[in-house]
Amino acid sequence: MLGSTGSIGVSTLDVIARHPQRFRAWALAAHRSVDTLAAQCEAFHPRYAVMVDPDAAEALRKRLAGACDTEVLAGAEGLQRIAAHADVDAVMAAIVGAAGLPSTLAAAEAGKRILLANKESLVMAGHLLMAAARKAGAVILPIDSEHNAIFQCLPQGRDATPGLEGVSRILLTASGGPFRNWTAEAIAAATPAEACAHPNWSMGRKISVDSATLMNKGLELIEACWLFDVAPSRVEIVVHPESIVHSLVQYVDGSVLAQLGNPDMRTPIAYGLGWPQRIDAGVAPLDLVALSRLHFEAPDEGRFPCLRLAREAAAAGGTAMAVCNAANEVAVQAFLAGGIGFNAIPAVIEAALAAMPVVEPTSLSVVEAADREAREIAALHVARYSSRLLAGGEN
Ligand code: NAD
Ligand code: MG
Repeated sequence: MLGSTGSIGVSTLDVIARHPQRFRAWALAAHRSVDTLAAQCEAFHPRYAVMVDPDAAEALRKRLAGACDTEVLAGAEGLQRIAAHADVDAVMAAIVGAAGLPSTLAAAEAGKRILLANKESLVMAGHLLMAAARKAGAVILPIDSEHNAIFQCLPQGRDATPGLEGVSRILLTASGGPFRNWTAEAIAAATPAEACAHPNWSMGRKISVDSATLMNKGLELIEACWLFDVAPSRVEIVVHPESIVHSLVQYVDGSVLAQLGNPDMRTPIAYGLGWPQRIDAGVAPLDLVALSRLHFEAPDEGRFPCLRLAREAAAAGGTAMAVCNAANEVAVQAFLAGGIGFNAIPAVIEAALAAMPVVEPTSLSVVEAADREAREIAALHVARYSSRLLAGGEN
């Protein structure tokens, strides 16, 4: 479990704990949250625990001494080591952001079953990740709720590769985020706390801001194109504020198949863990009568320009998607730290996309170089916007 202390990681351990005969959490990894990882080690007794931060690793080692015989590894290399380990059957890729790419790729190259929550790795390096998985026979099961829904609604082949026979379009649903009904003026003044208060889902802070800007849906559009081998023009985004219909697939005969459920990530996680069987996820059954109404509307790219930026990056292809992702990570981090205003997020991304050439992503090092350079450019623009914010000007 890569990212065991986060929102997806905790939900995954909850599902695993319901099936002690079937699953064992063999290795747990996180960045630096010593307290949470120590408690998880004491509860699940993994063979390995990885803390990317070396000081945190040392603190965890001291905490666990005498309490359990988990071996603590330090540094990012530890992530790749556990992801590709011969004793591992399935890897939950639930690190947030670009930091998840090398270990997700290592799992693909080692032919593991990958439960993919870390959408940023596909956005950055979809071509490399999908090719590595194909070559090594790795199965990628999407955990992002929308992609998990699409996976369930597509015609299923014998292996995990869903087909596209008879499919006309994919309908990707979006909650619209906390600012769906806000005016442009109110959105411009939005605070980090407001952006993180998602109406339906409880998630990590980065993806919560992505949901508020709709960049999350932009990243998911790109994710869908890689996972299901479809062109962006065949993916339509539909805003559905209740987050009950997790996505739909439209067929040439007029049929539309949808997957519904309460907004609880344990459903797609249990699907990924149990596939091709269904296992209990601890999720409350859906009560359609109590819900009574479901709503659908078109997204507003005027108030939420991140959607357009992600589409443009997808159309540009190559390293543009890695640039878009990197600039978004830098901008979101700055927004969460109070350094820039909400509307500076799309502005920083647009500036980074405009400044960077589009290159064929032929190797991980090409992608990583684009990621690095985009972060530097984004940081320069963040500095400009934050000085404007300090001066009391527009963000
Ligand atoms: P989170 O912030 O709650 O947790 C992130 C995890 O990644 C933590 O365990 C943290 O320790 C680890 N991490 C952070 N930086 C790291 C680094 N540099 N090296 C190693 N580990 C690092 O995030 P989350 O909400 O659980 O999201 C995780 C991923 O799943 C993201 O890619 C997100 O887009 C995706 N996702 C999340 C949800 C959700 O409901 N939370 C839904 C769909 C997709
Ligand atoms: Mg999603």
